[in-house]
Amino acid sequence: MANAADARGHGLFTLGGNRNSDPATTLTTIVVAAEHYGRVARMLEKNIPVTIEADIKNTYHPTPTMFNAVGEIPGTDKADEIVMRGAHFDSWHGATGATDNAAGSAAMMEALRILKASGVTLRRTVRLGLWNGEEQGLIGSRDYVAQHFASRGAAPAPPAGAPPAAGRGGRGGAQGPLEMKPAHAKFAGYFNIDNGTGAIHGVYLQGNNAIASTFRAWMEPLADLGMTHLTIRNTGGTDHQACDGVGLPGFQFIQDTVEYNTVTHHYNMDSYERLQPEDMRRNATIAAAFAYLAANRDELLPRKLLPTAGGRGGQ
Ligand SMILES: [Zn+2]
Repeated sequence: MANAADARGHGLFTLGGNRNSDPATTLTTIVVAAEHYGRVARMLEKNIPVTIEADIKNTYHPTPTMFNAVGEIPGTDKADEIVMRGAHFDSWHGATGATDNAAGSAAMMEALRILKASGVTLRRTVRLGLWNGEEQGLIGSRDYVAQHFASRGAAPAPPAGAPPAAGRGGRGGAQGPLEMKPAHAKFAGYFNIDNGTGAIHGVYLQGNNAIASTFRAWMEPLADLGMTHLTIRNTGGTDHQACDGVGLPGFQFIQDTVEYNTVTHHYNMDSYERLQPEDMRRNATIAAAFAYLAANRDELLPRKLLPTAGGRGGQ
């Protein structure tokens, strides 16, 4: 999700990455809390000398190992059709990433355990993807989708004399036409959790109005868990966009923000203490119910028109 570059004080600070990958020209980034920065600034204003001691031990990994973790419960009569659910398990290094996004990963794993332990029949295969490299631009989920469902070819050469493309087609710049794999036609839908520890209250429809009545019916028996909201709005910056960008139904749940935007999201306080266990149990239950219902309805989930350019994202 997006970096919050603002300093909130109270010892909170955010850490992010540097998109410059050339070690010769990339400086090590040091972050200090706003109060400590302010104290230094005030001393300097009064021409009081300031000495800062830092002991920095860092290592540059030019090609770090990256992997996704994938698990599934095979379906029965529609086993070749896939219901996917996911969350990213990478995090920024200022803390352990408890709410961004161990919380989503744990809720999705628990949902799979609930489905398995309850012994319910699943007509379609229910697959879980725990993605790496989300914070660097949906790297894991986009790579998985490209390998299994659809990828984009190279962008067609611009006509002679044309100005350079603005490069809006995702971080990879301009993109070519969609190249569909056979599994694209067998994909039911994708559900994602990546907005912290807060309770799920609904779904962003990503502009897919055709699914609204189905989701409304699914939510009715979950209303006492607080599952009451649908919005036609898009939400961005996380892994459902890997599906949405290639014309597959991909959805992100709406969640209570709790402290997400003030204390945890990319902050040095994103640790275990900030998790809400009751909300996470509720989220796992809702995620399991949605996977069960998507796996057992007669049809795949309705789709939007195929997009002409890759979904944006990777914030
Ligand atoms: Zn995240």
